Amino acid sequence: MMLPILTLPNPQLRQRSEEVDPKILKTPEFQSWLDDLIETMWKADGVGIAAPQVGRPIRVFIAVDGKTPHVVINPVVTGKSWRMEDGEEGCLSVPGKYGVVRRYRSFRIKALDREGKKIAFEPSGFFARVLQHELDHLDGVLFIDRAKKIVNIQL
Ligand code: ZN
Repeated sequence: MMLPILTLPNPQLRQRSEEVDPKILKTPEFQSWLDDLIETMWKADGVGIAAPQVGRPIRVFIAVDGKTPHVVINPVVTGKSWRMEDGEEGCLSVPGKYGVVRRYRSFRIKALDREGKKIAFEPSGFFARVLQHELDHLDGVLFIDRAKKIVNIQL
């Protein structure tokens, strides 16, 4: 089932999301909601989506690496590269705009997967950018807050 995606100026996009109690991970309700979140991202042509974008203020997001959607729960950043790089970003919650955003080139993150198992990533390149963009959503930060240049596109 596709979930409605909140867009600006919805104030829920600006809230800090809460950690997930790992006990809920095993519930059928949560697992089917994760499936809905992934389906919503694909149908909206996204490469990532965070729970607050569909009105659920919890620290969960989906991020695509290549073609694989990763479920990331309660992420913690454990290291950052010294180097940064600029790249273009857009957002399902900010339709009609994209911008150039400076991000860490690579970093380290640990989290839980959808079964509650510990996972870690050491992404670089585009996947690192997607993860940083989605992490920001969990703190109510949007790419337009960080963009050096914002371009309006005709929808
Ligand atoms: Zn976004």
